[in-house]
Amino acid sequence: VIGAGLAGLATAWRAAQRGLRVLVVDRDGPGAGASSVAAGMLAPVTEADFGEDELLRLNLESAALWPGFAAELEERTGMATGYARCGALAVAVDRDDAEEYARMHELQRSLGLAARRLVPSEARRMEPGLAPRIAAAIEAPEEAQADPVAVVAALARAYEDAGGELALADVKALRGGERVTGVETNIGAIGAGAVVLAAGAWSAALDPGVRVRPVKGQLLHLRVRAGGAPIASRIVRTPRCYVVPRADGRVVIGATSEERGFDTRIDAGAVHRLLEAAWEVLPDVWELEFAGALAGLRPGTPDNRPLIGAAARDGLFYATGHYRNGVLLAPVTAELVVAALTGERVSA
Ligand SMILES: Cc1cc2nc3c(=O)[nH]c(=O)nc-3n(C[C@H](O)[C@H](O)[C@H](O)COP(=O)(O)OP(=O)(O)OC[C@H]3O[C@@H](n4cnc5c(N)ncnc54)[C@H](O)[C@@H]3O)c2cc1C
Repeated sequence: VIGAGLAGLATAWRAAQRGLRVLVVDRDGPGAGASSVAAGMLAPVTEADFGEDELLRLNLESAALWPGFAAELEERTGMATGYARCGALAVAVDRDDAEEYARMHELQRSLGLAARRLVPSEARRMEPGLAPRIAAAIEAPEEAQADPVAVVAALARAYEDAGGELALADVKALRGGERVTGVETNIGAIGAGAVVLAAGAWSAALDPGVRVRPVKGQLLHLRVRAGGAPIASRIVRTPRCYVVPRADGRVVIGATSEERGFDTRIDAGAVHRLLEAAWEVLPDVWELEFAGALAGLRPGTPDNRPLIGAAARDGLFYATGHYRNGVLLAPVTAELVVAALTGERVSA
């Protein structure tokens, strides 16, 4: 398995549980890529977009797997995952937002998704920290969150407990021709009966047939001061930002979406815009302690859909291209790739 992000580790864990002999190879160790930057929203309903029905179905399937996935990880490792079905509010701050969210709600209704329109007073009763002058809101009660850093750590432990091995190595190329037979790395060649490409935004370097590109995202970490009240109990989002409050007082504000190649610098302007966007919907953001900013690279694809399952070349499998939803999609990716590896399902 090339890549110890959420896609690679979840797949490797499930494969090791099935009795396969697995080696995960990462040049920088578990969670070195986007997986440790992600906000951790498990939000198929408020992420649903026009013309993406197939992606939505996959997202919903994975959201349904998450409670069992998190419970099993926690039970096997004794480590937290931060999984919580906290719900989400999509909040329209002005009339333009309200029009946009009216269209989004029409889509959600037509797809039979759990989403309900609220008048401002209802929304403010549910989340008293909302700005007084919001225009409208949509509640998506089944949206959830997990802490991606905690999930990476728990997955790495569960995988090793299941007999899996991890190596620090930079994969330079796939080995073999028609049939992939292993990888070339900076520490030598490694043979394998099957190779899973889970290298996130870097996947195209190893297989140019994979049209995955980096989509930069910057986000902010804040925290409630000691003794302070939580900023919200649900995920709160507007068309310009999302705010993810964690149970322990940490707050994540995200995220930009930029086509900047492999650049992961933090821009002052992005910090400013994200803070302002969060402040207009939750003014108490101003009182939070600033804890830092991160940037990561989402593995984007031309149609926003991930690549999961058997590749055209024998011996090669994909677990990549998860773009904005790689945390959400980790459980279903693992199941589909392992089914392909064991011959239960040819491709997904
Ligand atoms: C700001 C931001 C916010 C996000 N928020 C959310 C969210 O709320 N919910 C959600 O579901 N998703 C979110 N995402 C998306 C999510 O982070 C990604 O889809 C997911 O982490 C991709 O996981 P991955 O395992 O495919 O890739 P990565 O986590 O990037 O892992 C790839 C790994 O491969 C390794 N690697 C690459 N090339 C090689 C090589 N040649 N040799 C050896 N190792 C190699 C890297 O070191 C890395 O560890 C967000 C992303 C960003 C950037």
